[in-house]
Amino acid sequence: MISYYMPTKILFGDHVINENKDVLKNLGEKALIITGRSSAKKNGSLNDVTNILKELEMDYVIFDEVEENPSLETIEKGSSYGKDHNVDFLIGIGGGSPIDAAKAMGILINNPDQEPNALFTNPGLKSIPLIAIPTTCGTGTEVTPYSIITVNEEETKKNYAQSVFPEIAFIDVRYFETMPDSVIINTTIDALSHLIEGYLTVKANIFSDFIAEYGLKVWGECKKNIIEKKFAKEIREKLIIASTLAGMVIAQSGTSLPHGMGYPLTYYHNIAHGKANGILLKSFLDLHQDKTKVNKIIDLLNFNTLEDFGEYLTDLLGEVSLTKEEVEDYTKSFLSNKRKLSNHPGEVTKEDILKMYNNSTK
Ligand code: NAP
Ligand code: ZN
Repeated sequence: MISYYMPTKILFGDHVINENKDVLKNLGEKALIITGRSSAKKNGSLNDVTNILKELEMDYVIFDEVEENPSLETIEKGSSYGKDHNVDFLIGIGGGSPIDAAKAMGILINNPDQEPNALFTNPGLKSIPLIAIPTTCGTGTEVTPYSIITVNEEETKKNYAQSVFPEIAFIDVRYFETMPDSVIINTTIDALSHLIEGYLTVKANIFSDFIAEYGLKVWGECKKNIIEKKFAKEIREKLIIASTLAGMVIAQSGTSLPHGMGYPLTYYHNIAHGKANGILLKSFLDLHQDKTKVNKIIDLLNFNTLEDFGEYLTDLLGEVSLTKEEVEDYTKSFLSNKRKLSNHPGEVTKEDILKMYNNSTK
């Protein structure tokens, strides 16, 4: 059987929320707007949303405390705030962090008798409706069912047990203009990782591959601009399209080894999520014995060889240092991530993981 499921309505264009504001009226009566600490205020998205809600005479409250790689504690705090204010729908604005946090808060708000830990133990829970307004070009969370949460008690990040697709993704390229180069680079490398890992998992199918191949081609068209840090509006537009396409891919296929292996780099070394995956991509492609799809990736990205791709990533991302003990610890912990391991075609040994870390770091 082959299936493809992605129920989010995507509305894309300049001033897209204002031009489609009536859809907000059907979602509920009072919104909880969820953002990071400052970017939604700077890029104009928060102002646009609140002005439209005022015009529609709809109530809202704002929770603007979501940090990068959102923690379970923040999700609990935001959901308590939403419950106290009797909100019945959510608007998540920002990068993956606030939108992922919004998905998890929506579940806790809809199920007030559940403890925060139920996010990992009770897969049947549903959320209240969510609108996603992405402002980075990386996670594709606006079209995925996932929410990646930092669990400090376990010193790692992990996906919750539920599935929440936003009802609507409003994508307005104007909100991406304020992204500094570092955020564009880290997030677009995340999108590239989604395209590559999603194309190579055992769950990839003809529909997800078709999208991945087009996304890789679009990304390849931007690669010179990315390394030269020349981000004109049409390049930002291509990068957000590649990111949303990449989300549509992993919504079907999941992610693979680099995502699971990158989590400790983010947790312990504060390396941005996209960069953490990106430094592992070359060694991940090396690991594949059957190079048919790997060669296709290199071709679609318009590199001559896999080595050229590796050099490009090192030039773009720099190098990361890990001690021998760290490599051992992260390898041991990753080997318990059965879900990511099962996404890889073929057996993955401890030596494979050690080799991937060692060849990707110094
Ligand atoms: P992020 O953590 O949401 O944001 C990174 C930084 O960029 C923050 O400082 C943020 O500022 C800033 N920022 C956001 N939009 C901006 C803009 N338009 N202009 C200027 N600055 C801006 O970054 P992200 O890479 O998008 O999200 C990463 C999270 O998503 C990770 O937790 C990762 O695990 C998760 N993820 C989820 C999925 C999924 O399918 N659910 C897939 C991949 C990754 P503020 O804090 O002020 O907003
Ligand atoms: Zn990712």
